[in-house]
Amino acid sequence: MKNLTRYYPTVLLLLLLGCGSGSNFNLISVEEEWQLGNQIAADVERQVHLNNDPAVNDYVRTMGQRIVAQTPMANMPWTFQVIDDPEINAFSIPGGHVYVNTGLIANADTASELAGVMAHEISHVVARHGTEQLSRQYGVSVLAGLVLGKDPGQLQQVAAAIVANGAMARFSREDEREADELGIKFMYDANYDPRGMAEMFRVLLAHQKSDPGRVEAFFATHPTTEERVRDAQKRAEQLGTRAAAITDEPQYQSIRGRVS
Ligand code: ZN
Repeated sequence: MKNLTRYYPTVLLLLLLGCGSGSNFNLISVEEEWQLGNQIAADVERQVHLNNDPAVNDYVRTMGQRIVAQTPMANMPWTFQVIDDPEINAFSIPGGHVYVNTGLIANADTASELAGVMAHEISHVVARHGTEQLSRQYGVSVLAGLVLGKDPGQLQQVAAAIVANGAMARFSREDEREADELGIKFMYDANYDPRGMAEMFRVLLAHQKSDPGRVEAFFATHPTTEERVRDAQKRAEQLGTRAAAITDEPQYQSIRGRVS
């Protein structure tokens, strides 16, 4: 990290003010958050098995970028990675790092179902839920130390917790709702069929009954209820489906074949 000293005044001021308890409080600037995200991502990526099939990664990256292009953070350096893991899960960490398990691709029946989950994860980043969560979970001084790069041990612990939980952490219901609301709008604007989001939730709920082990991490971090599915369905109906919207596409089925 360069120019560390220029961050001190902000951090100190916030330490003096103490941490707020509102849902939108955030201790660090977007710039600091994206720097911190790079460090956490490097640690996370040492602890997972990244998929190295270029066709699969290209597809996921292209879909991610199409969705990101509809967000206020379109010009930030996002990364999209595929993890070799049969669990049906995806997660994101602060600073625009989005991870999709091969198990999610294998079980999302259509491109728009995958787009629904990716748009949700992208929205956690756009709304900065990750650093809010870290602030709550680890406290102001730990987060400040992480931002300043003072505590590599703590950083590794944060990364290990993310890998162990298959996500940043348990987001609040409010955060989940916000990520669903933003996400469906972004996927719609990116020309994906917005009904894909509710359909993916239904796939997940079906797996919870038939094969709960595969969706454990997803449900631990994304409480999914019938109400959530109904809300997503209602939003999709309100948006409508464009005539040219992508529900599914052959390229998606082709990469699905590569990870199944
Ligand atoms: Zn979520």
